[in-house]
Amino acid sequence: MSALLEQYAKIVGDDVIDQLRQLAMRLQGMKVVHINSTREGGGVAEILSWLIPLKREVGLDVVWEIITGEQDFYQCTKMFHNGLQGNQANIPESLLEAYEKTNAGYADAMREVLRDADFVVIHDPQPAPLLGLCPDRRGKWVWRCHIDLSHPYRPVWRYLRSHVEHYDASIWSLSQFAQPLSHPMYLIPPSIDPLSQKNRDLYPGEVNAVFDRYGLNPNIPLITQVSRFDRFKDPIGVVQAYRLVREYTPVQLVLAGGGASDDPEGEEVLREVRAEAGDDPNIHILLLPPDAHREINAIQRASDIILQKSTREGFGLTVTEAMWKGKPVIGGDTGGIRLQVVNHHTGFLVNTPEGAALRIRYLLKNRDNLQEIGAKAKQFVKSNFLVTRHLRDYLTLMNAIFHGTLDRIDL
Ligand code: UDP
Repeated sequence: MSALLEQYAKIVGDDVIDQLRQLAMRLQGMKVVHINSTREGGGVAEILSWLIPLKREVGLDVVWEIITGEQDFYQCTKMFHNGLQGNQANIPESLLEAYEKTNAGYADAMREVLRDADFVVIHDPQPAPLLGLCPDRRGKWVWRCHIDLSHPYRPVWRYLRSHVEHYDASIWSLSQFAQPLSHPMYLIPPSIDPLSQKNRDLYPGEVNAVFDRYGLNPNIPLITQVSRFDRFKDPIGVVQAYRLVREYTPVQLVLAGGGASDDPEGEEVLREVRAEAGDDPNIHILLLPPDAHREINAIQRASDIILQKSTREGFGLTVTEAMWKGKPVIGGDTGGIRLQVVNHHTGFLVNTPEGAALRIRYLLKNRDNLQEIGAKAKQFVKSNFLVTRHLRDYLTLMNAIFHGTLDRIDL
């Protein structure tokens, strides 16, 4: 077994790795191409950066390609994103032309790679037109949607659908996020990598150093939300919940998020949160750089309870990250949080600051339960949301696509 697979085997067990190798047996040497629009930043790039090395480990010949464009290309794809998540977005014809032209130029430049690949995975809308631009393709093509498409702005979805409906299949994170298409549709939820800086085990010293660094009191319970400053993440609701708890019991709150980026709304939300927090010395708003993965890891581990009080959420990787660290999560009853937080078992689902406060108080008072829920949460992630499960799903899907017509697949 390779050194990398051995490291995963130590966490998930030899059987899981054996199963991956069996599933990969009939796929050896296949040329696989993943295409998205960025190598850094955002959940998609993060997932690909773990998944691709692991696919290579089990014998696939994988390349990761990026489609890039000029400003009008990104303007267009940003409008897609907003429109697909439900906002009214009337995309000007000139931007759609730029989008199609960028894809056409890319298809020309990548002609041989795309033609000869056995399996092409196109992520999200940015490279979606490529299929129609490669009429001489030999392989199977799958469109992987990472977006919540449950209530799209119809004109935007109609346009995008004309590009994605001819794919051989599509993959979605949650059934509720999918739109009907006439090809086979698969569900593959996201995952985290237990070996990454964000999620690997840390020495207690590194975890405890967090208290000094941020002026936190190690003797007072710590509740934390890690999130971009975004209204859908409800940071104000988190501060309100904290206040309700503090009326009864000492507690301190960390809100960890990105620094003031070029996202004007992010800065505005941060201002609102600061105003809500006032001069309370027990509320700590931490602005961390985008590569502070180990730091976030330590903060999550130093916390007693993790909140993710979103009112709308795609999957919620922060929830998975916290659960993997054995922390109970109190999460908004929405989107992918529902898939991870099994109410009363791996955490609590809430709809209001009052509900969140009630659950925080309950857990702080019932330490045995807090431990038990945290342990169940970790086990749940181990069984369902680690990168090895993600790879298993991909390999199963490839077997179904390439060998699905056989009566029997000998692994
Ligand atoms: N994250 C981070 N720094 C921050 C805020 C978030 O590294 O300041 C990470 C977080 O740990 C998680 C990801 O960004 O891995 C956010 O993913 P999630 O699915 O929770 O939310 P999204 O931001 O994609 O809506």
